[in-house]
Amino acid sequence: MSVTLGEVIAALEARYDPALAEDWDAVGLVCGDPDEPVERVLFAVDPVATVVDEVVESGAQLLVTHHPLFLTAVHGVPADDPKGRLVHRLVRSGAGLFVAHTNADRAPGSGVNDALAAALGLTGTRPLQPAATDPRAGLGRVGRLPEPVTLAEFAERVAAALPGTVGGVRAAGNPGRRIETVAVCGGSGGSLLPAAAAAGADVLLTSDLRHHPVSEAQEVRGPAVCDVAHFASEWPWLPVAADVLARDLSGRVDVAVSRRRTDPWTTHAGASR
Ligand SMILES: [Zn+2]
Repeated sequence: MSVTLGEVIAALEARYDPALAEDWDAVGLVCGDPDEPVERVLFAVDPVATVVDEVVESGAQLLVTHHPLFLTAVHGVPADDPKGRLVHRLVRSGAGLFVAHTNADRAPGSGVNDALAAALGLTGTRPLQPAATDPRAGLGRVGRLPEPVTLAEFAERVAAALPGTVGGVRAAGNPGRRIETVAVCGGSGGSLLPAAAAAGADVLLTSDLRHHPVSEAQEVRGPAVCDVAHFASEWPWLPVAADVLARDLSGRVDVAVSRRRTDPWTTHAGASR
């Protein structure tokens, strides 16, 4: 029994309501025919060439990515443009592309931030910045570890829970500091430092952090900060989203998660404590 792309999109949008997306975002179907059948769906963080290679090799009819291929208006998708070429390759191999970005960040239950919190073993999680329309949805999550650990142990736990990257895991704050209440935000969540402090978090785990806000948070004895690769912070969503899609469609599609590391950083030198 197969499903159409339209049915897959309806199932994804029931979990990741496009209305939750930020105004500037570009979510939903990028290419693909909603009337065509779908047997296999591949989930990945980034719509980049190596992931499109995997779509073509695996014979998937749909690629679901967290990050948009296009965030600004385009006038065409010629194949001599890097992004246009990806669209051509997907269409030629009979595959669509669907994006669930900030709507997946904010979604309750099976979104990016709940997946990140679950990967770290947090319990009693709630949104750090609840959405006005639904207090179960919103930006970031805050919850508790099963038992307190030091900041250094927390960083080790994070490294073990997330996919390995060249940059690894860094933390700002006293390495012996007691960590029990944890705030997380997949992707670029440095703007949530005040919300993490207000929620009584001992640490904020996010990515793409800047020097001054992190330094200032330590000066005022705010939350410690744990900095991971942007890709690594969002990857835990992939198996969660794949699993809920398969269940929501009663197993009528095969789902797979890309194992390709699309974190753009490739080398690291000079680490010193
Ligand atoms: Zn992201």
